[in-house]
Amino acid sequence: MTETQTLPVIGHFLDGRVLEDSARRSPVFDPATGVHQKDVALADPALVDQAVRSAAEAQRAWRRVGLGKRSQVIFKARQILLARQGELAAAITSEHGKVLSDAAGEISRGLENVDFCTGLMHHLKGEYAEQVSTGIDVHQVRQPVGVVACITPFNFPAMIPLWMATTALAAGNAVVLKPSERDPSVSLLIAQAFKDAGLPDGLLNVVQGDRVAVDELITHPQIEAISFVGSTPIAQSIYVKAAEQGKRVQALGGAKNHMVVMPDAHLDSAADAAVSAAYGSAGERCMAVSVVVAVGSIADDLVQKIRERAEKLTIGPGTDSSSEMGPLVSAESLERVTGYVARAADEGAEVVLDGRDQQFEGGGYFTGVSLLDHVRPGMKVYDDEIFGPVLCVVRVENYDEAVELINSSRFANGTALFTRDGKTAREFEFDIEVGMVGVNVPIPVPVGAFSFGGWKDSLFGDTHMYGPEGFNFYTRRKVVSTRWPEPSESQIDLGFPTN
Ligand code: NAD
Repeated sequence: MTETQTLPVIGHFLDGRVLEDSARRSPVFDPATGVHQKDVALADPALVDQAVRSAAEAQRAWRRVGLGKRSQVIFKARQILLARQGELAAAITSEHGKVLSDAAGEISRGLENVDFCTGLMHHLKGEYAEQVSTGIDVHQVRQPVGVVACITPFNFPAMIPLWMATTALAAGNAVVLKPSERDPSVSLLIAQAFKDAGLPDGLLNVVQGDRVAVDELITHPQIEAISFVGSTPIAQSIYVKAAEQGKRVQALGGAKNHMVVMPDAHLDSAADAAVSAAYGSAGERCMAVSVVVAVGSIADDLVQKIRERAEKLTIGPGTDSSSEMGPLVSAESLERVTGYVARAADEGAEVVLDGRDQQFEGGGYFTGVSLLDHVRPGMKVYDDEIFGPVLCVVRVENYDEAVELINSSRFANGTALFTRDGKTAREFEFDIEVGMVGVNVPIPVPVGAFSFGGWKDSLFGDTHMYGPEGFNFYTRRKVVSTRWPEPSESQIDLGFPTN
C-alpha cells in the first residue's frame, strides 16, 4: 500500500454530504513539520457540474424562503461557528501554519460579517417613489443572482469563505465554494456548521480542486457571479475570462501595503505597529505592511526600533502558545521568500536582519524575519509581492515624496499613515490612491458594516467585498413601475411615455 492510499482524504461537500471520490488528489502538508499529512480530492468538471446543478435547484426554493427564516439560519450558523471556533482554528493552524491566536482572529473577523448578514432583511430592503407621474409609483427590489462561485486563497481559509458565502446566502443565492487546495479542511467545517444551522442541502456546496475546477466554474452557464480572492495574475485572468462569459465578477488580487511614518509620529508606537503588521501571520496577509516609508530624519531611529523588536520575536509551531509567528505555508513559499532576501543585497538594499540566519530544527517551512533598509522602486524586493516576513524600508525626504511613491505602485490594497497631526492625516486620506486607509491603524481591514476592497491591480471589478457592497454584488435590482387606471382613462397613444 502506498503512503497516499493510507492518508486521510479531504473531500467535497455536496448536497449536505462529504464526498471523497475523486480520481485526482493533491497533498496537504503540515507546515510546522513538512509532513505530508493528508490528501485533498481534486474535482473534475463533471463533479463541478453536479455541484452547480444541485445548487441551482436548491436556490430556486431558497429564494422563496421568508427573510425572517433566512436570518434565523444565519443567526444559528453564527452560534455554531462561535461554539466550534477552537476546532476551526486548529484545522487552520494544522494546514496553514499560522499561530492559533491568529487563526482565532481570522474566524472572529469572518464572524463580523456573519453578524452583519443576520440583518439581511434591512440590507435587502428596496426603494419606493410615489407619484413619479400622475397615478404612477415606482419601486425597486433586490433579487438574488442565482448560483455564485466563491474561489478563495490559502491565507484566510475561514475568513474569506465566511465573507463571501454568508453574504451570498443571506441575499438568497446558492454558493459553490472552491477553497485553496493548500488548506482545505476548514471549508468542510464551515459547510457543516451551516448545515447544522438548518441551511437546506445544496445551498453551500464545496468543491475541492485546482485550476480544472476553477475553469469549469467560470465557464459554467448556471454560474451567474464569481467572487475571487488570490494573486494578481490569477485575479486578472479570472476577471477577463468570466467577463467574456457575461458573468458578474469581483476578483481581488495581491498587495504591497505601505506604512508612512511622519517625523512627528510616536516612534515606539509606529515601530510596534510595523513589526506586528509586517510579521504577523508570517507576512502572509493581503493587508500586511510590507513597506515602511520613513519620512525625513527619523529613519535611522525607526529602523533601529523595528530591528530591536523584530529580533525578539518568538517563531515556532502555531500550536505552541509561546509562538508569535509560525512557518510559511509551503516549501515553495519558503524558497521564494528566502530567494528574495538572498538577492536583496545585490539589488542595493541594506540587509539589517536576514531571516535565513535563524536556524530551525525539523522539516517545517520556517524562516526568521527579514528587515531590508534603503530599498527603492526598481528592486524586485520592492516591486514584487513577496508574501512573507520581509519588511522593506524606503527612505523619503518629505510627505509629497511618500504620496508619490505609494500612488506610483500598481498595487493599492491598503496603506497606513502614522502621525500626530490631523491636517496631514486629512491630506493623506484625500491624496492617496488606495482602497483602504489607516490613520495610526496599520491593518485597516474595515469592520463588517463597511466593505473591503483595494484599487488598481488589487481589485478587478467595481464592487468591494462583504458589507453593503457585498449585498449589491449578490443581488440584481429590478425596477417596477405601477399604475392602477380607471377603464375610462384608457386610450391608444403611440408616443413614447413622458411625464
Ligand atoms: P492564488 O492566486 O495562488 O490562488 C487563489 C485561488 O485560485 C485558489 O483557490 C487556487 O486554487 C486558485 N488558482 C490558483 N492558480 C490558478 C489558475 N492558474 N487558474 C485558476 N485558479 C487558480 O493565491 P494564494 O497563493 O492562494 O493566496 C495568496 C494571494 O492572495 C496573495 O497574492 C494575496 O495578496 C492575495 N490575497 C488578496 C486579498 C485581497 O483582499 N486583495 C486577500 C487575501 C489574499
